[in-house]
Amino acid sequence: MAQNKYDKLKKEYKLAWDKYTQKDLAEVFKLSDRYKDFMSKCKTERECVIEFVSLAKKAGYEDIEEIIKSGRRLKAGDKVYANNRDKMLLLFVIGKEPVEGGMRILGAHVDSPRLDLKQNPLYEDNGLAMLKTHYYGGIKKYQWVALPFAIHGVVVKKDGSVANIVIGEDENDPVFNVSDLLIHLSAEQMEKKPSKIIEAEDMNVCFGSIPITDKEEKERVKLNILRLLNEKYKMSEEDFVSAELEIVPAGRARDCGFDSSMVMAYGQDDRICAYTSFEAILKIDDPDKTCCAILTDKEEIGSVGATGMHSKYFENKVAEIISLCGEYSDLKLRRALENSFMLSSDVSAAFDPNYPSASEKNNVAYFGKGIVFNKYTGSRGKGGSNDANPEYIAKIRRIMDKHNVSWQTSELGKVDLGGGGTIAYIMANYGMEVVDCGVALHNMHAPWEVASKADIYETTRGYLAFLMEA
Ligand code: MN
Ligand code: MN
Repeated sequence: MAQNKYDKLKKEYKLAWDKYTQKDLAEVFKLSDRYKDFMSKCKTERECVIEFVSLAKKAGYEDIEEIIKSGRRLKAGDKVYANNRDKMLLLFVIGKEPVEGGMRILGAHVDSPRLDLKQNPLYEDNGLAMLKTHYYGGIKKYQWVALPFAIHGVVVKKDGSVANIVIGEDENDPVFNVSDLLIHLSAEQMEKKPSKIIEAEDMNVCFGSIPITDKEEKERVKLNILRLLNEKYKMSEEDFVSAELEIVPAGRARDCGFDSSMVMAYGQDDRICAYTSFEAILKIDDPDKTCCAILTDKEEIGSVGATGMHSKYFENKVAEIISLCGEYSDLKLRRALENSFMLSSDVSAAFDPNYPSASEKNNVAYFGKGIVFNKYTGSRGKGGSNDANPEYIAKIRRIMDKHNVSWQTSELGKVDLGGGGTIAYIMANYGMEVVDCGVALHNMHAPWEVASKADIYETTRGYLAFLMEA
């Protein structure tokens, strides 16, 4: 393309597809194949953390708790992970420089919107065994009905033993239904406003319909389900009390579009950023500064709890790292945190031709234009947002351009249409530089979300460039 003499004055965000060689394209598609496999297998925060730990171990990462126990020290180039209850994971690659000089941190979350089972979920209603649910995260409830659902999770019994449950992913498995009312009888339902079309207490899972043969018993269908649960998982009804069972869309992540340029999968918010962060940090050996990837839980419900970003877990583990690398002091910990740079990674909304009025065309992300940076998020005048500093954004631009990473900037929709938050502001409390970034999606928080393969590839490259240079 001929260079125009004004090109340097203008900024045009270009499609990453245009710059790819055949070899690049092969890499784009190979990465998305690995990503689809991961997304098909890992549909809960636990499944993500357990899979990441297993892959990290193969790549030479060691459990920080084992190192602490052994009395060994850490040195530059060492790789460690910290597993917070199988629900939040930290990965560190120790740098040549002291940790108090600051770290390069990637952060993403591995929890996604879903329907959780209540603690006493099972009941019988007119010959049907049903399960009560309580939705997790922000969903349009009317999207979460009349789909094949799977159940993933754990049941922890009183003796501490754990039954892992995954039903609905194998093609020979049964799937589960949350019913919707037939259109023929929906005259009243269709008059309701969308937030009331499907009510939370009506989102019950139909779990079975065969009665136990013993005709003397009451609630014979429920009893038969309990008999089957006991047979298969050695559990009783009371064990539901200490279970975490999640109802998620059943089935594999798929290619999307006639040119297979996109991925459709459940839980891309925010496992798309978690997976790309993970692939990036796995490529880091012997960095100057200590590198870290945080894969956290509970973002969708406010980052609360012991496995959420508001907990002290991350800070505690950085303290352990400092202590394992030399002499620990509180001041060193504070310096390490304040001197760090972070990419807080979460998904953005991609421009959608079906809903053009939701976004402002100059400040929205587009499929295929690369990793998305959001200077700020929040709502009603940037409320609750980490508004990144321009000095830091300039540094990030330098790094991305040096590595020829396709990047773009975005706001989450038009001003005052809504908004959202991430973990950025929590980390910024330490005084570190943080900017929001990530991958743009269609259908965010719907059972099946869509992303561009070029964006998955550019985001992974962007994270790697950041870990090498920030
Ligand atoms: Mn998110
Ligand atoms: Mn979300």
